[in-house]
Amino acid sequence: MQVSEQLEHIVAAQFEKTLDQCSNEEIYGALLQLTKERICHCSHPQSQRKLYYISAEFLIGKLLSNNLINLGIYEDVKTCLSSIGKQLSDIEELEYEPSLGNGGLGRLAACFMDSLATLGLNGDGIGLNYHFGLFHQLFKNLKQYETKDPWLKKPSWLEDTGISFSVEFGHSRVTSHLYDLDVVGYESGVNTLHLFDLDGVDESLVKEGIDFDESLVDRNLTLFLYPDDSTEAGRRLRVYQEYFMVSNAAQYILWEQKKLGHDLHHLDQYVCIQINDTHPSMIIPELIRRLMFEGVRLKEAIKIVSHTCAYTNHTILAEALETWPYDTLADIVPQLMPIIEVLHMLAPPKAGTEIIDDQQNVHMASMDIHYGYSINGVAALHTEILKTSELKNFYELYPDKFNNKTNGITFRRWLLYTNPDLSAWIEKRIGPGFKKNADELTKLVAFDQTEDLTELKAIKDANKQRLCAYIEKTQDIHMDPNSIFDIQIKRLHEYKRQQMNLLYIIWLIEQIRKGYRPNHKVTFIFGAKAAPAYILAKDIIHAILCVETIIEQDDLLKQYIQVVMVENYNVTKAEKLIPAADISEQISLASKEASGTGNMKLMLNGAVTLGTMDGANVEIANLVGKDNIYIFGQSSETVIAHYAHADYHPQDYIDAEVKAVLDFLISDEMVTIGDATCLQRLYQDLNHKDWFMALLDLKSYIATKNQMIKDYQDTESWMKKSLVNISMAGFFSSDRTIEQYNHDIWKLD
Ligand SMILES: *Cc1c(COP(=O)(O)O)cnc(C)c1O
Repeated sequence: MQVSEQLEHIVAAQFEKTLDQCSNEEIYGALLQLTKERICHCSHPQSQRKLYYISAEFLIGKLLSNNLINLGIYEDVKTCLSSIGKQLSDIEELEYEPSLGNGGLGRLAACFMDSLATLGLNGDGIGLNYHFGLFHQLFKNLKQYETKDPWLKKPSWLEDTGISFSVEFGHSRVTSHLYDLDVVGYESGVNTLHLFDLDGVDESLVKEGIDFDESLVDRNLTLFLYPDDSTEAGRRLRVYQEYFMVSNAAQYILWEQKKLGHDLHHLDQYVCIQINDTHPSMIIPELIRRLMFEGVRLKEAIKIVSHTCAYTNHTILAEALETWPYDTLADIVPQLMPIIEVLHMLAPPKAGTEIIDDQQNVHMASMDIHYGYSINGVAALHTEILKTSELKNFYELYPDKFNNKTNGITFRRWLLYTNPDLSAWIEKRIGPGFKKNADELTKLVAFDQTEDLTELKAIKDANKQRLCAYIEKTQDIHMDPNSIFDIQIKRLHEYKRQQMNLLYIIWLIEQIRKGYRPNHKVTFIFGAKAAPAYILAKDIIHAILCVETIIEQDDLLKQYIQVVMVENYNVTKAEKLIPAADISEQISLASKEASGTGNMKLMLNGAVTLGTMDGANVEIANLVGKDNIYIFGQSSETVIAHYAHADYHPQDYIDAEVKAVLDFLISDEMVTIGDATCLQRLYQDLNHKDWFMALLDLKSYIATKNQMIKDYQDTESWMKKSLVNISMAGFFSSDRTIEQYNHDIWKLD
């Protein structure tokens, strides 16, 4: 049936109207219905072995357009709507973005779901259905405020399955409720994302902002993602959430496998479980326990689970590798303790690899590594650092378990959807094959004639205009589309060094005031949420917002620079920002960013990277060559040595010029508009601690960024760099990543 015919049927049945009589809300509802009907005709991939990808986060973004693209009816729907004077983009605005993730790790899980379905691989996701998501970020008095993000609205993509399980804790028992969401592949099959919710969750517990009584577990369990881990009650709630997730996962997997008639003694032939970071680690003891209920003996259950579970490490930040006090676990999940004890005792007795250490802390990653059959890092450098430093002791025990899977992104969302003009430009030159076979993008390098580059520049300019209109509409801020768009968008963290970017801007302010005149106006755009309990991260946001205001109010400065902090950075905002970027800021302290995926999205959309040799930046640099990327800063070896010798002191890097930059933070000008306590705290930290070494690389960052702004003047040569970046981005398709996971780890067919 034609799209228009089907839509008319739906609105006639639902609202007794014709399409042209419908409101935007009604059209949205009808499109949702149409999409679901079409999905019913897609088949689920089949194979003997099935993957269950367990993750505390799935940052899936809005689904309407993505589903229409993957079903191959996006253009038809657009045409149909425009025939009644409507725009699909207006309808899209009515959809709420599912708030089920925090940053890169959750977005990776979402890209993987897209690629699994596209490649026709039999793999479902399992996670939690957080009612208020992470949080919604607001700026008030130049500071971040958090409110709940109530994204669960009707009509919804979620389908109530009616399936529920009982989950037992030390002091209570709760019931879960499963909602399913279809994940449509590009011109192919459909998999399922299973989201477990707490039956009887009480939204009225949240009164002001994001505060709620963290002890009322049987009513609050799925209210928020990652409740505050700065307090004991918050940390306990996190254990409750994690166990709730994995107990449901284990019960679901065994229920489904029994339904398929599979012999649980051979579970590893039928099931593979990917543990996305340490949050789902308790799946290991829980699955062992549940196999024992099914009559499997302990030793055999351990062996089966060890051939079923694989673990992805996402970080080398010590504070992000979870450990839980033994007593906390014994209180919340006493039923797991005998199993964790056994797992601890059966593991090889090697120092530094203990599951239960002598401080009585339980190390989740240790359990994953001893009892998982594959351990992977997420970029080549990251995996090397795991082997040689962070997880060296484990690597010596299990060299064959370690492997690398460099992250990727789905090109359907991050190119076809976000940048339709660029997609058309590409298709006109090399045909449509790149949509499913991203390596074909390399054919583009040949299209570097003046006419090609002029068109490419026009596409970038139009995207910048669109972003300007969007920012004007949403935040009432006017930006200059002819300025250079220098973009840093990612969670706020000291290791990602938004503070170093800010110090550059302050340096530039001081230069301009001394008479320096930049060749080109630059707009510095930030988008970042700070974890609610991460004080220094909030201080950095505050300082950025203060500097934004100072520039805005200064007639000299605002001729040359502007700072814009985008409120509530999320997937929807990313989709608008990325196609408009000229400069991609990837400036983490070398060794600290496991991979990054924002760097890949920006490269694919023609931005040129300003980055350190960290994470996947290293692989980007190798692909595009040194003329098409701007690398600065100390190497990961140097940084790791500084930590090992504890010999980094910010004072060693403060000369008169740097001192002037730092002093600006607590200048009268700043303190008059800002909060002196916050600014002082940031100032003191940078002067005396600077744990993530912003000052170590500041000078080389300033010099490299200045060079970049200078080089931007030569439009043709800049656009050639942009073209090389687009052409070489094919390697970062998540289709490639997923094929490698499947080939080396999952072996699904
Ligand atoms: C891609 C993405 C990220 C990850 O960005 P990094 O720069 O890799 O940290 C975070 N948030 C959103 C919304 C994203 O789309």
